[in-house]
Amino acid sequence: MKFVCDRMLGKLAIWLRISGYDTIYVGDFNFENEDHALLENFKDRILLTKDKTLYKKALKEKRAVIYIRSNDVADQMRELKRIGVNFQIVMDRCSVCNTPLRKPSDDEALEVLKKEGIKEDLREIYELWFCEKCKKLYWMGGHWKNMVRFLDKVEKS
Ligand SMILES: [Zn+2]
Repeated sequence: MKFVCDRMLGKLAIWLRISGYDTIYVGDFNFENEDHALLENFKDRILLTKDKTLYKKALKEKRAVIYIRSNDVADQMRELKRIGVNFQIVMDRCSVCNTPLRKPSDDEALEVLKKEGIKEDLREIYELWFCEKCKKLYWMGGHWKNMVRFLDKVEKS
């Protein structure tokens, strides 16, 4: 399953990427008419929207579309779980830009750590992943633990 999310669903888009789903967020682009872009572009993707008018238009054009009811991202995730989306933390897609992650070279890792002011020994503590587009490193640190906790909450209620 590949997705495209409307502007209201930025957080959901990030969680879909964290979970390994190829997901485009329309807010990452500068479309003059976003509704039009959502209907005319990305036709190979399931459209996720909170906009009932857009939802109806998409249905009319026989697009694969899902209307998201909740405002809260945890509830939005539960809505998608019902249709078989599996939320988990897989390290294979940049949550910011959707680019597949890879292992960084030593130089790449060092450059980012230096730029971000992070201690170099992070490399010895954690396994690192790298987005070559954002020049961003990922590792299973404190942010990771918060994500695990959040997912637990989504699973339990
Ligand atoms: Zn990225």
